[in-house]
Amino acid sequence: MSGLCAAILLAREGADVTVHERQEAPAKKLLLTGNGRCNLSNVSVSCSDYVCGDPAKLRGILACLTQTRRDEFFAGIGLMLCELRGGLYPASRQASSARDCLLLAAQELGVKLRTDSYVKGLDEDKRLLLRDGSLTEAYDIVIIASGGKAGVYGEEGENGKKLLRSIGHEMKNEHPALTHILCAEDLSAVAGVRCDAAVSLHVSSGTYRESGELQITKNALSGIPVFQLSRYLDEESGVLSVDFLPRAECDRVWFRKRLEEQKGRDLEGLLCGVLQKKLANWLITSFGRKPSDKVSSMDPAEADAFFEMLRNKRFTACGLGKYREAQLMSGGVPLDEVSDGLESRFREDVYLCGELLDVNGACGGYNLHFALASAFRVRDEILRKKR
Ligand SMILES: Cc1cc2nc3c(=O)[nH]c(=O)nc-3n(C[C@H](O)[C@H](O)[C@H](O)COP(=O)(O)OP(=O)(O)OC[C@H]3O[C@@H](n4cnc5c(N)ncnc54)[C@H](O)[C@@H]3O)c2cc1C
Repeated sequence: MSGLCAAILLAREGADVTVHERQEAPAKKLLLTGNGRCNLSNVSVSCSDYVCGDPAKLRGILACLTQTRRDEFFAGIGLMLCELRGGLYPASRQASSARDCLLLAAQELGVKLRTDSYVKGLDEDKRLLLRDGSLTEAYDIVIIASGGKAGVYGEEGENGKKLLRSIGHEMKNEHPALTHILCAEDLSAVAGVRCDAAVSLHVSSGTYRESGELQITKNALSGIPVFQLSRYLDEESGVLSVDFLPRAECDRVWFRKRLEEQKGRDLEGLLCGVLQKKLANWLITSFGRKPSDKVSSMDPAEADAFFEMLRNKRFTACGLGKYREAQLMSGGVPLDEVSDGLESRFREDVYLCGELLDVNGACGGYNLHFALASAFRVRDEILRKKR
């Protein structure tokens, strides 16, 4: 995404551009995005939608992609957009439309596309070192947009790391993100449950909270709120706490009233109408009670503790989904290794853009938005230096 966008933007300025793509076909990852619909951007984008160690630099990159520029870019490649719950998608709702329009525009502008062209290094004259050991012609400017290894590659997959290393850049703190979080507890009894919840992740860097539809599998918590939180789990383990009663009215006063009104019921009956039966019964059992126990058998202190557990059920986070299952590679080249204009601090006229940078967007079109925004940032800097 980022490389093709940069190629189009610079070819429009009259540059002679060649794209080297290691795979047999370009932009394969785009076809996987947004469940095959490709969530390209969002109606509202700000720094707070990203995890990034250098918010000031990020702000500068995002500022490059004004709404007008974004809309004109997509219109200019012939891609009509539509909005779905804030996300911007191809009007056809097919990711292949986005890929095809990018490729058609690149072709029309004379961009040369070399597929099966794995680049493993860059020499002093800005010649690319290819897989077979051959060198390309020397380029005036090189843009590295080799992305992350989520989705397409396996664990062993390599995403431009060698190329970046050849000029002194290191990918840092990489881990799969926008993926499920593995839990140490056996969750088979509640596997398949989907429910509204507020989920908090407690790690040494802080506590992060997200809400939305939680999905439970036999060994993991998943769903959009967990995906968002996975960007912060950069260590071996953490604690997840889930509020299964996230609605504002479900406070302690509400619960006490419910206990009073339903004192003749059993605990399964108490939670009936609020939580799915499978989930309710699992929560009751994990509290050490039976679903058939009477509400009246709980004294006020135990009832308070039960309510507290429903609002704050703890799980031990012990890992993340694999790269193949993830939507993002968190971490990457730190922003302090590039200038404000995304030029490498180690090599003049070499630029870095897209997911390989240490900028981790939330679900909702923010990563493809960043891929385009950083391509614009590179284009602007190249033109500024040329003037
Ligand atoms: C399943 C899935 C769903 C997603 N859904 C969304 C979504 O809906 N919205 C959103 O905003 N984001 C989504 N993302 C994230 C988004 O796809 C990426 O953040 C985005 O594609 C990054 O763009 P990029 O150009 O930096 O890298 P990429 O799109 O990964 O492109 C990098 C390209 O460089 C090539 N390459 C790598 N190394 C080399 C090398 N050494 N030599 C030559 N070529 C090389 C790769 O083959 C690849 O084609 C999703 C990701 C996945 C996996």
